[in-house]
Amino acid sequence: MSDDRQYFQPEIETMPVEKLKDLQLKNLKEVVTRVYNENPYFKKVYKDAGFEPGDLKTLDDIKKIPFMEKGTVRDGYPLKIVTGQIGDQREMHSTSGTTGKPVLIFASEYDIDLWADRNARELWMVGVRPGDIFLNSFGYGLPTGGFGFHYGAQKMGACPIPLSGGQSDRMIDLLVDLPIKAFCATPSFALYVGQKAQEKGFDLAKDSACEISLHGAEPWPWSTREKIEELFGVTAYDEFGMTEFLGPGMTCECEARSKDMPIRMHLWADHLLAECINPDTGEPVADGEDGEMVWTNLVNTGTPLIRFRSRDLAAMTWDLCPCGRTHPRMAAIKGRSDDAVSISGLVVFPSQVEEALTGFPEMGANFRMIIETDKRGMDHFTLIIELKDKTLLDDKGNVANLTQKMKESVKAVTDVNPKVVELIGPDELPRATAGEGKTASARVEDRRKK
Ligand code: ZN
Repeated sequence: MSDDRQYFQPEIETMPVEKLKDLQLKNLKEVVTRVYNENPYFKKVYKDAGFEPGDLKTLDDIKKIPFMEKGTVRDGYPLKIVTGQIGDQREMHSTSGTTGKPVLIFASEYDIDLWADRNARELWMVGVRPGDIFLNSFGYGLPTGGFGFHYGAQKMGACPIPLSGGQSDRMIDLLVDLPIKAFCATPSFALYVGQKAQEKGFDLAKDSACEISLHGAEPWPWSTREKIEELFGVTAYDEFGMTEFLGPGMTCECEARSKDMPIRMHLWADHLLAECINPDTGEPVADGEDGEMVWTNLVNTGTPLIRFRSRDLAAMTWDLCPCGRTHPRMAAIKGRSDDAVSISGLVVFPSQVEEALTGFPEMGANFRMIIETDKRGMDHFTLIIELKDKTLLDDKGNVANLTQKMKESVKAVTDVNPKVVELIGPDELPRATAGEGKTASARVEDRRKK
């Protein structure tokens, strides 16, 4: 096949939707039958729920399969939910386990091969081609981070550089010295590297050959994307993955992505079955509406999670994309179903507040929302925002102006007007412990009486 083709695996990526759904049903039956027959844990859970693999007649019957909750998956530690034989596994990854036991995910040679396919599709989709050099600054370690794109790049004939995370000087040198076509990094690290390069006197938009970048693992508003594109002279794409599903290679934006398209990342429906449900009722939400993402790994033989409740809130759609791929799309994660806060009946996510605030160059690293109830029983919230530089607080006129603008910006994104906005110096808010910096518990203080 030629390098100028549009898709890495054209037959799969553009498979007619009906055929794709037939394939999903076939793969679902297979994986469920396998875990039922080969794994006592799954067999017991399914029997207790009155479910048998033979009950799966249509895709809709997936509703009969009980959900896997994060807690149950953690209870499966270390090997209860592994379905493959340990001797057949070729790689193991693990979640961080900051909130309890980690989840161990095994992959056989077959699983790694399909994982590489998914990542190769994504790299191809954003414009990487055989012979290109791809700099990978996702971490190579227990979380899957760097590995997915590494295998994907090799599979499609590109050359990955396993830089791994946190090596900004090395990354700048490599970007300047080698004809690197694309890189991946977390958005915050990319911003850091771009700014550091400027301090060293480089303009990576001109001094590197880079054209493409991929970013994930953190929420990042469109304004951050524009900043990265400017710093590196690239077109930046969003991608998403969870270690429970071998991480990178779950969803990624295609060449048709634009700011006006709210749901932008394709998810690979031949390998993954995604449902979007109402977190309270467990019932599916309408196509395109926000709900909780529930994932089933249709092909993994090592540790296939089935109907895993991610608690991530996003929208998904089967609407056809202008790029010609028939696989459904998922929007960027909007928040977590256990993180959303309700203020006077309106649902607000800390990630929305962040999105509103990152547009301000004066904004520092952290903010905190304090929610209270007044004497009339009305909810309101105060927003405390760290600025980048303490001297910004010296000019009272400036502070008043900035406070008002930030207030308006937060109201525009969340529909809720913060009652008070208080600006403080850098690092004055209490630090969150590792791993929870972006969670609601670190950013929201709910003082309302329950
Ligand atoms: Zn597309």
